[in-house]
Amino acid sequence: MRAHPAGPLHADVLHTELPHAPPPDLNRLDPDVWPQNAARDDGAIQLGGVDVRDLVNAYGTPAFVVDEADFRARAASYRMAFAGADVFYASKALLCRSVARWVHEEGLGLDVCTGGELALALSAGVPAHRIALHGNNKSDSELIDALRAGIGRIVIDSFDEIDRLRKHAHDLGVRPTVLVRVTVGVEAHTHEFIATAREDQKFGFSLATGAAAEAVRRVLAETALELAGIHCHIGSQIFDTSAFEVSAQRMVGLLAAIRDEHGVELPELDLGGGLGIAYVTSDDPATPATFATGLRQIVATACETAGVALPRLAVEPGRAIAGPAGVTLYRVGTVKPVETTSGLVRTYVSVDGGMSDNIRSALYDAEYTCVIANRSSGAAPILARVVGKHCESGDIVVKDVWLPGDVAPGDLLAVAATGAYCRSMASNYNMVGRPPVIAVREGRARVLVRRETVEDLLALDMG
Ligand SMILES: *Cc1c(COP(=O)(O)O)cnc(C)c1O
Repeated sequence: MRAHPAGPLHADVLHTELPHAPPPDLNRLDPDVWPQNAARDDGAIQLGGVDVRDLVNAYGTPAFVVDEADFRARAASYRMAFAGADVFYASKALLCRSVARWVHEEGLGLDVCTGGELALALSAGVPAHRIALHGNNKSDSELIDALRAGIGRIVIDSFDEIDRLRKHAHDLGVRPTVLVRVTVGVEAHTHEFIATAREDQKFGFSLATGAAAEAVRRVLAETALELAGIHCHIGSQIFDTSAFEVSAQRMVGLLAAIRDEHGVELPELDLGGGLGIAYVTSDDPATPATFATGLRQIVATACETAGVALPRLAVEPGRAIAGPAGVTLYRVGTVKPVETTSGLVRTYVSVDGGMSDNIRSALYDAEYTCVIANRSSGAAPILARVVGKHCESGDIVVKDVWLPGDVAPGDLLAVAATGAYCRSMASNYNMVGRPPVIAVREGRARVLVRRETVEDLLALDMG
């Protein structure tokens, strides 16, 4: 049915089976899905103590709203759960100067994977030694910028990069601290993982083929590079720790092999990011504390079994910090009931954004939930699909949701858990400007990133 597995689900848009029964109260904000400081007051939703109607009057729609206290609390809970370890926020989830500062103030380091992300983090005042640079295709200028800045970690991803990094480090007279990125053959997404994932992918050095051991050999032979440890990242939106268990055991096995071959006990083990969040009520992610306890136990046991010293652990959460803190506000335009040949009536609720501000539904078939935000309603539920304004039938924001039957043009819709990988993956498809990022906290709102205007887009066009 699908032209390409990663493509939008054009052929698959009209599902015939009904999603689970409507929730008993369509106005309720499930605290597991909505930001900590989201509540209904007088019918309308408040985010961080600010009425969404006031937000929309001031900043328009669509808008990304971030509950600053929620974001900071999640960052802090990671830092506390991983006390004695390093937590790097994966900045690709959501990045702007204020967010970089929040992360730094909460005691986390920052992962970047391009020169742009690095420049932004530095411009926010994050000290370079708190930043780690990833990426399978770092350019020479990205490596040089990172070395000049005095970056904390560079995660080496290819043999070619070892050579280039050695040369640049030598030229600049610096000795960077590096990790070797390992492909452990574990791939995990949501509820399933494969412990024997195919290794033909672009990231890292394969453990199974011996490429990882060879990379370690070469880096150890480079006096210009300080090898601190090994790194892996097995996937995203992961709900149980068994995938981490397999990968941690394999990584510790590699640490033991390195010790046996070189007589070196590498001090650091970075197990990447990937902890899942609740996009919908049925999602049940582990808390950072549970996740941390489990992961520490797994690593401790594996180290004991392998007889290697316990390395300093690092993790790299992105989604788990930024995702639940964010809500997207849209204005409802067209409301169109569509009867399918199977007799199912589905109401298409069109909003003033779509795949340009949330590509995840089209890209990953991601699930979301939403509610009417400007008022509560006692109307009977209808089966709805929230779609955008773009020229693709796969332009879906929320695939299946029960909304009050009186949803009407002009209503505001709030989509939960859009803090990660929505603004950062936003595009200008159909010449639509990207929405602003607004922080709310204790009854006050502040623009972190302003709305992109048509004038901004025209200004890029040289005629
Ligand atoms: C994307 C990424 C992360 C963050 O993943 P989340 O699922 O957002 O936690 C961490 N580390 C690396 C190397 C990544 O590429």
